[in-house]
Amino acid sequence: MTINPNLTAAEYTHTVIRPSEIDPYLDGDRDFIDDCAIRAELETPAAPGAGRVRDIIAKSLAMQTLSLAETAVLLRVDDPDLLAEMNAAALRVKKFVYDNRIVTFAPLYLSSLCVNNCLYCGFRQENKYEVRRRLTLAEIRRETEVLAGNIGHKRLIAVFGEHPASSTEYIAESLRTIYSVEAPTRCGVGAIRRVNVNAAPLPVEDLKILHEVGIGTFQVFQETYQRDLYAKIHPGNTVKSNYRWRLYCMHRAMEAGVDDVGIGALFGLGDWRFEVLGLVAHARELEAKFNVGPHTISFPRLEPACNAPLASGAGSGVSDADFLKLVTVLRLAVPYTGMIVTARESREIRNECVSRGCTQGDCDSRIGVGAYQEAGSEQEAAKQQFLLGDTRSLEEMVIDLAKKGIITSFCTAAYRCGRTGGCIMDLLKTGREGQFCKVNAVLTFREWLDDFASPETLEICRPVLEAEIAAIRDDFKPSFFKEFIAYYRRLENGERDLYF
Ligand code: SAM
Ligand code: SF4
Repeated sequence: MTINPNLTAAEYTHTVIRPSEIDPYLDGDRDFIDDCAIRAELETPAAPGAGRVRDIIAKSLAMQTLSLAETAVLLRVDDPDLLAEMNAAALRVKKFVYDNRIVTFAPLYLSSLCVNNCLYCGFRQENKYEVRRRLTLAEIRRETEVLAGNIGHKRLIAVFGEHPASSTEYIAESLRTIYSVEAPTRCGVGAIRRVNVNAAPLPVEDLKILHEVGIGTFQVFQETYQRDLYAKIHPGNTVKSNYRWRLYCMHRAMEAGVDDVGIGALFGLGDWRFEVLGLVAHARELEAKFNVGPHTISFPRLEPACNAPLASGAGSGVSDADFLKLVTVLRLAVPYTGMIVTARESREIRNECVSRGCTQGDCDSRIGVGAYQEAGSEQEAAKQQFLLGDTRSLEEMVIDLAKKGIITSFCTAAYRCGRTGGCIMDLLKTGREGQFCKVNAVLTFREWLDDFASPETLEICRPVLEAEIAAIRDDFKPSFFKEFIAYYRRLENGERDLYF
């Protein structure tokens, strides 16, 4: 949809929102988020019995999505021994679906122009102190060269404020530019192979354009599933103030063929337990309507942001203990989904999240527009959307994970081979995607180590690499192992981007 960039905010809202792309998804005039039902689940005060909790854990281990009532039971567990059982089960679920891999990515901020007025965000339109910027294609190219050539990322999440100047055409052109970059590395060529997008909800015709350009995951956070709170923190007649336009954006994505979708809630705005049930309800709705649940769930905690009335204080309002509990509960409630813990969190909390079944995290992250080229400068510090809790480099994160026996995967094969949406869900639920991912993780890890790591890092990572290769030899047919080793040798000899 081409939008006149000179529209006022109200005209823009009217142009963007299409009731015809909301109403067909309603159940009569009701949403799949039933506030009363969720509140009723949360009002039960009694701590659950161990038998009931263990039955629910068994359902998770059988890879079944939990109901809202079952999820609410897990939220009520306070007994330390039962909580420890839940944490252990969460990690088992993760290992069954995703093995001992963590996927990394980096955020790439392309535009801080925004027509909305979210009270928690530094990019909100009323923040007159924010220096607005939208990257040109040449600047996008240069940012990508740093990410793919200097750091070694293979996956990005491209982040956009909502504005007529960062229209779908701009998003599509940005993706084309990012995919076209080939940056020289020590032993080969670096490239971004999967670009996920975090942008405003879009209509179906625009999502089809992004599908054609090769979008990875389309990610939109509902921020809060609580309707009354949603209205308060998204004031004015803005696009974002329309709860339903946002709530059904993943329905539209599925219709457009974008079947890897990422949902999320911003924790710290309201009752965190409501948001957990909202996310589970959203996952169940997508499963019921499209037979495909969310590819990823995100659970960012509110961070301090400049001139954002709801984010000017220090804490998010969700304690570390509650945050870790919600991670465990989400892992158990939606067993097949990828779970993203971002660099908003500290290194310690992120490590805890990994041991509770998170599967993805960003690192070496810069969260300002143009920030990778300006890394370390005062300009960069002034432009951050909010403050990061974990500023580890990619190499530091790789080392930390390797010391725990975890392999960092740079694999992007599933989506490039068409294993997305329902296809990948089935493979994940039955533990079969792990087979492709296991070999591709080793291949892409080796490629990254050769291109970007120091000799010391290579030595630290060697045991995890060798353990993975030994497991492939033991678990796969000899003929496949032979094929895999041939690929591995070709990589060692300088070939790049080999995968199954
Ligand atoms: N403009 C698009 C939107 O709102 O969906 C995408 C970009 S927006 C910068 C991406 C996400 O940043 C939001 O969905 C919100 O959850 C998160 N965010 C905004 N302010 C934040 C803050 N102060 N702390 C942590 N996350 C924040
Ligand atoms: Fe704009 Fe998104 Fe920030 Fe809201 S969260 S002000 S829509 S960039």
